[in-house]
Amino acid sequence: MLLTTIAQPANIIVEVAGKRRETGIMGNWRGYEKAATDLLNHFASHFGLVRVEGKQMIRGLESGTWWEIEAKGVREGSHTGFVIIECRRYTKSKQNQEKLAALAYQIEDTGAVGGILVSPLGLQRGAAKIAAAKNIIEVKLNTDCTLEEFVMSFLGKLMAGIKETVVLGDSPVIVLSRNCKSCGRMFKLLDNETICPDCRTDKQSPSKVIT
Ligand SMILES: [Zn+2]
Repeated sequence: MLLTTIAQPANIIVEVAGKRRETGIMGNWRGYEKAATDLLNHFASHFGLVRVEGKQMIRGLESGTWWEIEAKGVREGSHTGFVIIECRRYTKSKQNQEKLAALAYQIEDTGAVGGILVSPLGLQRGAAKIAAAKNIIEVKLNTDCTLEEFVMSFLGKLMAGIKETVVLGDSPVIVLSRNCKSCGRMFKLLDNETICPDCRTDKQSPSKVIT
């Protein structure tokens, strides 16, 4: 389960071409939406977003009605405007066409330039077509993957979806690290362990063999 997987904070370092570009701390997330917005915020600058704002009301330009959106990604530079971020933690079925159509209309009505939809299972075929037509990026955020898988799949999706706004030439490398609970030294995470490899070899047998 995601929330137990990331309950322990970890440092994130994003390196591009061997240079450190961005750091942040992830963890202590209370819910799916918070996890998604926090992660998007950490990597916002890589995707041409200045910032990610939380839940808010936006007025429809066409309809005049008010929409509550879960998060808003504000873009920068020549790509001014904003994207609507939706988090739908449905664990039983993929997002269908009707649900995507609702988001597509919100985008149109509010004058957003696109959307980011975060969900555990992804999109059904018809929904994927709507997403492509309306500039909606699908981000699969699993609920039971390891910390590294979680970050990698999340960032991978973002990179694939908004490639044109990424100004950096090389793919970012993400390094997750944490201070060892036993000796206090900073070590690179392979999974979501709290004890560094050195202390683990001394005190307990490793949970898996790394080749
Ligand atoms: Zn240690």
